[in-house]
Formats: sequence, structure tokens, C-alpha cells
Amino acid sequence: MTFHSPTRWADALAVRAEHPQAVPIAGGTDAMVELNSGRRRPDRLLDLSRIAEVSGWDTDGGTVRAGAGITHTAIVAQLAESAPALAQAASTVGSPQIRNRATLGGNIATASPAGDTLPTLLACGAAVELHSVGGARTVALADFVTGPKRTQLAPDELIAAVLFPAATGPQHFSKVGVRAAMIIAVCSFAVALFPDRRSVGTGIGAAAPTPRAAVEAQDFAAEVLPWDSLGHLDPAVAGYFGDLVAKAADPIDDVRGTAQYRRHALAVIARRALIWAWDDLRGAVPCG
Ligand SMILES: Cc1cc2nc3c(=O)[nH]c(=O)nc-3n(C[C@H](O)[C@H](O)[C@H](O)COP(=O)(O)OP(=O)(O)OC[C@H]3O[C@@H](n4cnc5c(N)ncnc54)[C@H](O)[C@@H]3O)c2cc1C
Repeated sequence: MTFHSPTRWADALAVRAEHPQAVPIAGGTDAMVELNSGRRRPDRLLDLSRIAEVSGWDTDGGTVRAGAGITHTAIVAQLAESAPALAQAASTVGSPQIRNRATLGGNIATASPAGDTLPTLLACGAAVELHSVGGARTVALADFVTGPKRTQLAPDELIAAVLFPAATGPQHFSKVGVRAAMIIAVCSFAVALFPDRRSVGTGIGAAAPTPRAAVEAQDFAAEVLPWDSLGHLDPAVAGYFGDLVAKAADPIDDVRGTAQYRRHALAVIARRALIWAWDDLRGAVPCG
């Protein structure tokens, strides 16, 4: 096996162009599982973990640009203010050891329906920045993930960064699992309030072939939330929001849970997430 380990992004893109069959590897926490199990037997690996250019983040005019190589540990430590739900999701990924190695770009490229960062990024309307030697393009995350473990990534491209608006209001991420840590989500949900533009973003995880937004639910909430008065959230509104989120899901029965359970759990965690986010916005003590 040939192992390429560039330290410059331009060199990584050149290797990708010359050897499109080379498998990119960042933290290796998904890729090495595939290799060790024999599901993948590449003759080349393209190590991205030494490239500092894509491992940080910055902001520009209210937009956060998080490099593909930023680790979950760094997200938790550095992006909790500008991306609270993403930081909450990152804090639930694996164990500290996994979070120290595993990257945002790897979570997105794996495109698991249960990938924890994806619902939070969908809730923010994130886009993925893709680079090749030929240039760059930006694709909405909702379009980038095309199916379970399938994406729009071209053979000569790498994920360079993820772009999303910095939080202007509260966000929440909830994950249902059979235990509190080291667990793949049975289902998950993220909500993001943007009071500046009176909009609500949502993301559903592990309850459809791809992570997806609950569009009807977010439009309903944006319409009925009392943005002017910041009044108490009617429990019936939160309940109906949860029902719409459950309706937007398309879950399956599998070893982690039944479709029926997933829909029920989604309705509950979505209702609670909206209540918590709204109470945060009102400056009240979370309840629910
Ligand atoms: C014990 C354990 C627990 C886990 N727990 C969770 C969990 O709770 N939640 C969760 O969501 N995930 C979990 N995972 C999965 C994994 O840790 C995450 O998906 C992680 O974010 C992957 O990042 P990575 O850098 O390790 O990716 P890698 O393994 O390096 O790569 C994953 C895939 O992405 C591709 N890739 C990586 N970087 C790029 C790039 N820049 N451009 C294009 N393609 C790229 C690789 O070719 C590969 O196909 C767990 C894994 C393990 C082993």
C-alpha cells in the first residue's frame, strides 16, 4: 500500500487528482474500521491529518468557515458560542480519544444517516466547500448527502470546509441512544433559532436514509413563535412542532430501534428542544 502524507493542501489536491482511487483518511476513526474489517482494500491512502490549513476555523461577516480537519474536541472547545448545537453534537461523538482524532470533514464524508454533526449543520443551513486542482465549489449540505453513505463528492475532490451562519440565538441537539456515551444514535434532532431573521432551522438524524430538515415543522414554528413579546411558548405549539418533526421522518426498523419508536422519540425530543431553545431565548430557566 502506498501512503501519501502531504503537509500542504495543494499537494493533497494534486495527489487526489493523480490518484482518484486513493482513499482520504483524516482521523481514521471511520476509515480504519472499514480497512480493518476488510470492507475496503485500497492500494493507496491519502492522509490529511498533517495539513494545518484545513484544521482551523474563522468567521467572516457572520459566516463561520470550519475547516474539514477540525476535530470534535476542537469544535467543543472553540465553537460552542458560534455553533452551540454543533458543539453539543461533537461532545457526544464516541469517547475523548475518538473526539481527539475524528474530524468534522470525516463525519460529513462518511454521510451516515446517524452522523451526529449533520442534523446540527442542516439546522443552520450549512454548505460544504469542495476543492479540486480545478477549483472550488460550494454545495448545500442538504444536497451534498445523496443517500446512506453516499455524497456528491467527485473522485478528484476533497472537502475543504463547512460554511454556516454563526448562531444568533439558542440551539439544541438531542440524541437518543441505549446508553449515554459511545453510542450510535437511535435518532437525533437539532433545532436552531435565528431571532434576527425570525427563522427556525431543524435537522433529523438516524430516522431517514439521509439526515434531513423537518421543513413543515420549522416553517410552522417560525410563523407562530411569539418573537415580538417573547411570551411563554404554548405547550400545544411545542407538541404540534414535535408531531410535524416525527411526520417528516422516514425511519426503518433495525437493531437499534423500531420505526415506531423512532417517530415517538423524535416527537418527544423535538418538542423538548424547541421548549429549551425558546426558554433560553427568553432568558428563562429551561423546562420541559
Ligand atoms: C468507537 C467509535 C465511536 C464513534 N462514535 C460516533 C458517534 O457517537 N457519532 C458519530 O457521528 N460518529 C461516531 N463515530 C464515527 C467517526 O468517529 C466519525 O464519523 C468521525 O467524525 C469521522 O472522522 P474521521 O476524521 O475519523 O474520518 P476518517 O475515518 O478519516 O474518514 C471517514 C471518511 O471520510 C473520508 N474523508 C475524510 N476526510 C475527508 C475530506 N477532507 N474530504 C473528503 N473525504 C474525506 C474518508 O475517505 C472516509 O471515507 C465513531 C467511531 C468509532 C470508531
